[in-house]
Amino acid sequence: MSSTTKSSVIRRLEGRQCQWCEDGRLERDTYKGNRAAVCQSCETPAVQIW
Ligand SMILES: [Zn+2]
Repeated sequence: MSSTTKSSVIRRLEGRQCQWCEDGRLERDTYKGNRAAVCQSCETPAVQIW
């Protein structure tokens, strides 16, 4: 995957409602050193880019 594709995957998830908790919102972040969309409420990453 190109880096452009990776960031567009994150961008598409950003702002979405978390699938694991009621009022979480996904924000662009890193998880264990990888780019991910992470819920700011429960801190669950919705996707990890390896
Ligand atoms: Zn959440």
